[in-house]
Amino acid sequence: MGKYSLLSNVYFLGGFATMGGMLFGFDISSMSGVVGTVRYQNYFNHPSSSLQGGIVASMAAGSFLGALLAGPLGDRISRKRTVMLAASIWIIGSIIQCAAVGAGMLIVGRIINGVAVGLASMIVPVYQSEIAPKNIRGRIVSLQQWAITWGILIQYFIQYGCSFIESDAAFRIPWGIQIVPGLILLIGISFFPFSPRWLADKGRSEEALQVLADLRAGGDKNDPAVLAEFKEIQDAVTFDRTLAARSYGELFRHPYGRRVFLGMTLQSWSQLTGMNVAMYYIVFIFQGAGITGNANLQASSIQYVLNVVMTVPAILFIDRWGRRPVLLIGSTFMALWLFLIGGLMGKFGSPLESTDGNSTTTWAISGNDSASHAVIACSYLFVCSFAISWGPVSWTYPAEIYPLRIRAKAVSLSTASNWAFNFILAYAVPPALEHIQYKTYYIFAGFCVAMTIHVFFMFPETKGRTLEEMEELFNSDVPAWKTRSLPASKLEHDIEVIQAEQLNEKHEVK
Ligand code: BGC
Repeated sequence: MGKYSLLSNVYFLGGFATMGGMLFGFDISSMSGVVGTVRYQNYFNHPSSSLQGGIVASMAAGSFLGALLAGPLGDRISRKRTVMLAASIWIIGSIIQCAAVGAGMLIVGRIINGVAVGLASMIVPVYQSEIAPKNIRGRIVSLQQWAITWGILIQYFIQYGCSFIESDAAFRIPWGIQIVPGLILLIGISFFPFSPRWLADKGRSEEALQVLADLRAGGDKNDPAVLAEFKEIQDAVTFDRTLAARSYGELFRHPYGRRVFLGMTLQSWSQLTGMNVAMYYIVFIFQGAGITGNANLQASSIQYVLNVVMTVPAILFIDRWGRRPVLLIGSTFMALWLFLIGGLMGKFGSPLESTDGNSTTTWAISGNDSASHAVIACSYLFVCSFAISWGPVSWTYPAEIYPLRIRAKAVSLSTASNWAFNFILAYAVPPALEHIQYKTYYIFAGFCVAMTIHVFFMFPETKGRTLEEMEELFNSDVPAWKTRSLPASKLEHDIEVIQAEQLNEKHEVK
């Protein structure tokens, strides 16, 4: 019987690391509940809509940069230390935001926080996928998505609560409180082991074996499962040494180009579902459905709760359902809800002169309660469909399809694609809602149809395989839609071989 410690429990390590996802969530909703308050508007001198757009988008711009930096950093200083760096940067950014005396300082703080989130959003899934055994890898990485949804929810409610305070604290408290998860992450992760795969890659094989033994078998380095997995990792590292020096250029060439493209498009598609229209601009969607004032705020908050709740089934079942079916069913349903929202608003809505001084909502349903309620129901169902599918899988899939050699850099590119589209859409959606109104939803519905087709033809099933086995999967000629029927992972067989060898050795000794 081996020794047990919390710091060798994959659920604990993977779960705690998701604190990085929590920062991500705080980031997503860090403006939504503050921007409408009188305190904020007065203090920052009623920012023009373009300045306000810049304030919102500065964070995603920082995250884009952070995601790009995280690739080389993750390889050089380790996955673990990159998380520590992200947490430290986050604390600095939050202090600057909390103390902001003008829009300029606020933007600087937000860019710095954005860099931290870019680093964390890239490196946490990589760390998780490298410590997790193959049969629960999807679940462990999905925890990161769950933390994102919790972060969004918690920050939204903190801001809502603070909006009743009659001083600058109304916006300073929500931004200052962000320091707490950053601090917990920084201190906690410093006790964590390095990723065994990163250690092996650095030639520190003794340590890699020890960490793997701790994670899988209470420290027993002779456990057959540990030895089998360790051998796979070592073989991959040895093979890698026979190849030319690493470079960014190889990411775009055979044999990796296709996979890098898949990771980048998957993350771009995840934004093009339109999910962040709901996260950032739900208020406008519901205004279009004819709901205003406090009722709107309450109706909005429900979607954040649904987002958290509906991520749970994915955590529980993603490793059983597989990635492909989840993506395909998710985007099919999202297309349906979006077509319905657009259709209902087109049929029952009419042009609107002006609402509460905002020019974004120029078309709305009025006086037809059933149609309004149907739009709200479809928006909720849309959020649920994303939460159970593309949310978790868009992070799981890129973190598992690359060989160690290019993993950090390739995941960094896919994460940066997510942030690039996040940034673009944050800017583009309000004018789209203003000028083409409900037709905006048709565009996103069209994207959902396109991504369904793309996934069906191009994305192989990855569940149940070790990270090292992805090579064979992606190099095989089997079309993506038939990969489910490929022979299962060889790890179990390798474990049996080692067990038999160990038994033989024992007999010989006797
Ligand atoms: C996306 C975010 C989004 C969040 C919503 C994440 O997977 O990358 O942009 O806001 O899900 O839960």
